[in-house]
Amino acid sequence: MPLNFVKSTKNKNLLVYSGYIFVKDYKKKEKIYWKCVKYSTDKCRGRVHTYLEEVVYHKDEHNHVPPY
Ligand SMILES: [Zn+2]
Repeated sequence: MPLNFVKSTKNKNLLVYSGYIFVKDYKKKEKIYWKCVKYSTDKCRGRVHTYLEEVVYHKDEHNHVPPY
């Protein structure tokens, strides 16, 4: 499944997955670690890992409902 992105107001790529929106946290080799855009405002712990353009992991621990 190809990844979906939206642009943030600062023109950054945000990942859309499972109705949630994620911001890039860091990259390690080809794996990219994303955190939910609500991580700071709501202390949301939802995370996604992508590898080679695919979501390989979703920590579905959001403390809010989609879209955010
Ligand atoms: Zn979340």
